Amino acid sequence: MEIKLEDKEKLLSEIAREINTCEKCALAKTRIKAVPGSGNLAAKLMFIGEAPGRNEDEQGLPFVGQAGKVLDKALAANGLSREACFIANVAKCRPPNNRVPTPEEVACCISYLTLQIKILEPKCIVLLGATALKYFIKEEKPSISALRGKKIMIEGRIFVPTYHPAACLRTYKYYEVIVRDLAFAKSLI
Ligand code: URA
Repeated sequence: MEIKLEDKEKLLSEIAREINTCEKCALAKTRIKAVPGSGNLAAKLMFIGEAPGRNEDEQGLPFVGQAGKVLDKALAANGLSREACFIANVAKCRPPNNRVPTPEEVACCISYLTLQIKILEPKCIVLLGATALKYFIKEEKPSISALRGKKIMIEGRIFVPTYHPAACLRTYKYYEVIVRDLAFAKSLI
């Protein structure tokens, strides 16, 4: 059953309130701000990254640093904008020194994301990078290069993995691949 927009808003703000005061793991002690996720509540396309970095931690918003600029550019290359999408992360608080969140930290956090997906009901979820992919396909070391750009069905939902935008900051050729994968994701909505 589809959830009405005003109910989505209420439910998602309740979850955001919980995330902002969450103390389930030690990341609560080192964060400046939690980053619940943000975007269009009627979004057909949702993006899921790994965890907030320094800029996100300061602003409480997802993908507002260098990787976010790459994401914005790849969206624009497909005639999309972040205002039309919803963006969130597997972990809602910044791990110190931008390390990968531990399985224990993600275990504390993942139910927030699961609920956000249930409420938003996006048509397609783009998984940005190996960490996001790992927690959805439940494999320890999934191959992002083997699975990127493919439509993967998990519990009745459509997922398209692609490289993490930060990967382009090191290897530019990944940018073109992300643009193509986003075009594919767009074709599914
Ligand atoms: N990298 C992520 O995975 N998420 C962000 O919000 C920012 C950078």
